[in-house]
Amino acid sequence: MANLGIPQNTIAVLQKYNFNFQKRFGQNFLIDTSVLDRIISAAEITKDDCVLEIGPGIGTMTQYLAESAREVVAVEIDKNLIPILEDTLSEYDNVTVINEDILKVDIAKIVEERNGGKPIKVVANLPYYITTPIIMGLFESHVPLKSITIMVQKEVADRMQVGPGTKDYGALSLAVQYYAKPEIVANVPPNCFIPRPSVGSAVIRLTRFENPPVEVNDEKFMFALIRASFNQRRKTLVNGLTGAGDLHLTKEQVIAALERMKLSPQVRGEALTLEQFALLSRELD
Ligand code: SAM
Repeated sequence: MANLGIPQNTIAVLQKYNFNFQKRFGQNFLIDTSVLDRIISAAEITKDDCVLEIGPGIGTMTQYLAESAREVVAVEIDKNLIPILEDTLSEYDNVTVINEDILKVDIAKIVEERNGGKPIKVVANLPYYITTPIIMGLFESHVPLKSITIMVQKEVADRMQVGPGTKDYGALSLAVQYYAKPEIVANVPPNCFIPRPSVGSAVIRLTRFENPPVEVNDEKFMFALIRASFNQRRKTLVNGLTGAGDLHLTKEQVIAALERMKLSPQVRGEALTLEQFALLSRELD
């Protein structure tokens, strides 16, 4: 099968199957061989790797992954793409396509069956409408993972990478940086896709930490504090945390904890580092 990273080959497949793009599935197919090469090299795929691809589309990146990995499992929600994938991937015997919603698949079971429970790599040009639930689902379910190398909306990649004191800093930055080291590896303009998305894109690699970079007694509690702090960005941390009913914290408790941490009672959540949120969660636990 011809390389689908070349635009004419993708167009030929789309015409052969009279394929209709589904906007609701975030379908923007890659048509740029240098971006595809960049993703594969950033993911450092070797013949030892079992790779999970989310949303293979017509199989463009899947072809590249099949060439470099030992085994590829690709989960695609759109049933109209399944016969196309059978055709475009027919010459590979190391690819399994699963017609399912990635948010409903038991990924830990796939890792167990395909890789003996050893960590896999995730590589994807993600459907942008579910970027956060996919990433958080992978991290929070503690699926054995080495890294996640993904195409996401440029603005979302920026949010994952920044630290305190910038407008993009928020709950997603802290969640990602608790589980992994983020690195943006490429910026990708809309003309690298068919159809063109209305936003810029970026490839980001998230390398999973073996152990979290900060000490936390109760992860759930720390993330509840983080969510409450950023829910009301304009409020001080004291008002944000005491306003969140589910946390059951009093003003006095929060102010005393901040004092012990040598922070002002006027501080806002967006000024705290991950380290400080971890400490705050231990102080308030
Ligand atoms: N990998 C292909 C490429 O790079 O050309 C396609 C990428 S496209 C941005 C996203 C793909 O994810 C589409 O094929 C879409 O049908 C699929 N998709 C959308 N929602 C999904 C879900 N919940 N589970 C699995 N696949 C999904």
